[in-house]
Parts: sequence; C-alpha cells; structure tokens
Amino acid sequence: MAEIIAIANQKGGVGKTTTTLNLAYSLHQLGKRVLTVDFDSQANLTSCYGIENPNAIEPNISHLMMARMEEDELPDKAAYIKTANGVDFIPSSISLSVVDASLRLEMGSEMMLAGILEGLRDDYDYILIDTCPSLGSLTINALAAADKVIITVNPQLLAMMGLQDFMKTVRKIKKRINTRLEVSGILLTMCDSRTNLCKVLKDQVYDEYNKVVPIFNTTIPATVKVGESIYYGMSIQQYSPKATAGIAYREFAKELVAL
Ligand code: ADP
Ligand code: MG
Repeated sequence: MAEIIAIANQKGGVGKTTTTLNLAYSLHQLGKRVLTVDFDSQANLTSCYGIENPNAIEPNISHLMMARMEEDELPDKAAYIKTANGVDFIPSSISLSVVDASLRLEMGSEMMLAGILEGLRDDYDYILIDTCPSLGSLTINALAAADKVIITVNPQLLAMMGLQDFMKTVRKIKKRINTRLEVSGILLTMCDSRTNLCKVLKDQVYDEYNKVVPIFNTTIPATVKVGESIYYGMSIQQYSPKATAGIAYREFAKELVAL
C-alpha cells in the first residue's frame, strides 16, 4: 500500500516541483511504483512531463476534485492517469484555481483529495503530491491526504522565515483532521555547500529546526542543468546522468526509502 507524501512549503521557488519530479524518477529507478499528483493550478509539474498545454488535458485533478465535491462517480483511472518516464502522474490545469475557491464554500471539504487517493493506494508504493505555494484549502487537502510531508527549503531565499507558520498548519491538521500526518523532514534545495553563504544559511536552519523536525542528510545542490532538464521534459538524471543534483536526488530517494 502506497505511502502518500506531500512536498510542501507555502513559499514559491523553493524546489517543490523539481523535488517531486526528480524524487519520483529516483524512486522509480529503485524499482518502486510511483504516482505523482500535480496539485498546483500553475501546472508546472504537468509541464515538466513534457505537456505543452496542460489546460487542454481532460480530465485532470480539478475534474476529480469537482466530482468528489458533487458526490459523482470518478472517471476510469485510465482516463486521468498519464505516464512519463516510468512514473504515473495526474495532471493539473488552471481550473484547479476554481476548485480552490469552491473548496472554501463546501462543508467537510478537507478530505476530497484524500478520498481520491485512497482508491489508488493499492496500485503504488509511493504517491507524491506537488503542492501550491499557499496555506489555503488546496494545501490543507494535500496535508489531509498525506501520511508524511517533506518540506523543501531553499536557504538562499531565507525560506525559513515562513516555516513557523507552515509547522503550525501541520500541527493543526494533525490534531483536527489527519492524525497520521508526520513531518518526514526538511530537504535543503538549491544549496551549493561550496559557497560560504550556503554554509552559513544551512547552519542557521540546523540551529533553528534540528530539535523540532528531522533535517535530511542529503542536500540538493544548485545546477543550471535542472532548468535545462525541465525545458526538455526530463528528470535531471535522464538529461545529465552526472549532474550533481541528479546524484543528490538519487541519494535522497535512498535516504527516504530507508526511513
Ligand atoms: P516550487 O515548486 O517550490 O515553486 P520549483 O521546483 O519550481 O519550486 O523551483 C523554482 C525554480 O528553481 C525553477 O526555475 C527551477 O528550475 C529552479 N530549481 C529548482 N531546483 C534547482 C536546483 N537544484 N538547481 C538549480 N535550479 C533549480
Ligand atoms: Mg511548484
């Protein structure tokens, strides 16, 4: 039965989508059955899989969410699960922003995504949810569906600043909606350990959070190859097997599996 992991942080640009894409591919390389869910109306993850116009793909996650809210039957899995490079994924589109607005008006709406994923658990070892940069109803749905959350932090963006609020949201969700939820750990992304600034910032994250939540041993270095790989619709490992970030994501996958 799949472990459901949300990749989250209410800040944008901290490597959530990149981590979902490359962690999923690395887990697949380790022989795991993996599903990713694009749960951001910007549909960046969907684009990463080489889909040029996500808005043209139907049904996508927003249709599934709407169906759950209306108590309608979900479409066949074959209609909404796509595959790229050995990884299954559920695409997103801008219409997820309409779902976001509707969720706020709907009673008991926190468990809509959980209901969708429950029916897919048996088919996978890991289900990774790429979340949007907010603490709104979509992120709450993602955390309500998850067993674990990986918090990506880009130390260069001073992303620690919003982290307290994020942790508070996780604690509330665990208490009120989803008692299973655990913080798997903080993953430092775009962090080049050779630079002095990165070392200083890394130490800061450790000082502030090491006692509160686990911090993964693996950190993901910054490399221009990451942007290039996305442009070509590939994971970093496929685009450039020797790229440091790809090697790091593989190590990260092993670290996660060993937990
Ligand atoms: P989020 O999903 O949190 O908004 P993204 O994964 O989209 O963050 O990353 C933000 C930007 O940083 C993207 O342009 C992405 O290509 C780039 N990026 C992510 N990880 C790396 C990395 N390890 N090295 C270099 N650039 C990266
Ligand atoms: Mg993103």
